[in-house]
Amino acid sequence: MSRKIFTAIWGAALAVFLASLVFIMGISYNYFTGVQMKQLHAETALAAQGVSLCGKDYFTGLSTGDYRVTWVGADGTVLFDTEADASRMENHLEREEIREALETGTGEARRYSPTLADRQLYAAQRLPDGTVLRLSVVQLALWSLVLGFAQPICLVALLALVLSFLLASRLTKKIVAPINAIDPDNPMKYYERDEYREVEPLLRRIAAQQAQLRRDRAEIERASLIRQEFTANVSHELKTPLHAISGYAELLESGLAKPEDVKPFAGKIRAESGRMTKLVEDIIDLTRLDAGGEDYVFESCDLLRIAENAVDSLETEAAGASVTLALKGVSAPMQGVPQLLHSIVYNLCDNAIKYNRPGGRVDITVTPEDGAVVLTVSDTGVGIPKDSQSRIFERFYRVDKSRSKAVGGTGLGLSIVKHAALIQKADMRVESEPGEGSTFTVTFPEK
Ligand code: ADP
Repeated sequence: MSRKIFTAIWGAALAVFLASLVFIMGISYNYFTGVQMKQLHAETALAAQGVSLCGKDYFTGLSTGDYRVTWVGADGTVLFDTEADASRMENHLEREEIREALETGTGEARRYSPTLADRQLYAAQRLPDGTVLRLSVVQLALWSLVLGFAQPICLVALLALVLSFLLASRLTKKIVAPINAIDPDNPMKYYERDEYREVEPLLRRIAAQQAQLRRDRAEIERASLIRQEFTANVSHELKTPLHAISGYAELLESGLAKPEDVKPFAGKIRAESGRMTKLVEDIIDLTRLDAGGEDYVFESCDLLRIAENAVDSLETEAAGASVTLALKGVSAPMQGVPQLLHSIVYNLCDNAIKYNRPGGRVDITVTPEDGAVVLTVSDTGVGIPKDSQSRIFERFYRVDKSRSKAVGGTGLGLSIVKHAALIQKADMRVESEPGEGSTFTVTFPEK
């Protein structure tokens, strides 16, 4: 970047210098031509005086140097010329400077001489006898002016080169220094400072990106912490049934168990392995949901149908707990992932049975509402204390750990429901009064 800035400044300085040089040369050339013309007029006036006093004799032995002198009669015939034979020269009446001198007394012109290739300056003056004396000289050519100035121009150019080099490197350093001094971790402290006004958009972007990075880092740390916690919880949850299983198996193996204990021990082993299977199934479900749910395919389905299936598969469990299950509702067509919808209804109803009391009820309703579909699951169970209501969706969170274990809970059911609802973009709410029961409401948005 420094190199580019330096080249730009140096280039600009040199370009300005060259342009000024050309401009000054142009002006000087005009000025010198003016001076040359003035001189020519003065010489003409002197020569005119000489001719009017001495007539043609004035020219005898006259050395005119670079000047050409022409004497023209009042009718335009050339009477004398220092460079050509006057008798062979054409009539000069039409020459601009002659005509002007005849009319006003003096005249001038600049043009290419038809006889000589150079640009000529002409000055003419009328004599008292009506004839005209004209002096001409080669106009100083531009290149000869440049040549004449060559030495000072070279000197000035060298000076300009060195000066602009120094200026460009100083300016480059001055421009780049504040940018190099920016502390990218704290770009906000440069806001409103004069030397940073132009780079403020850049500073703001750096600040925004820093903030984004900090957020991302916090998010990654949080996710990693959650994963660590989850792994620790899973290991702990698996260890308990495994210990129980290996304990009962050891007793059976050693032959210490009484024959009448064999059956209940085998039953305990079966129950514990069932609990493990449920836990592993829930973990598999949750891991799949965690992956972002991209492999879930949305299709047209009817939530009432899905709820009927879920309720059917829970009838035996409800009967075992002496709880009445009642589903009410009308057909509710919607877009969804049947597997997720089933998991939502199943887990909510399963909890409503598990945390109920004998003789209690579970009421399930499915209602289409302005394009949306609302599912409610209410029970007459133990209810959930207010301060736990926001935590029950956390993994492995249980209000009453021993009760959850006793009814075969894994602590993951509501996390699965929350995740599935998230993928369905559904809204979840819980209302509960301890001792009276709970109502879970899931609103599936309009498709
Ligand atoms: P679990 O496998 O323990 O049931 P969940 O994630 O399904 O795990 O539920 C978390 C906790 O929320 C449960 O342990 C229970 O304490 C409480 N809970 C869930 N549903 C109900 C309900 N319908 N009535 C009372 N408590 C409930």
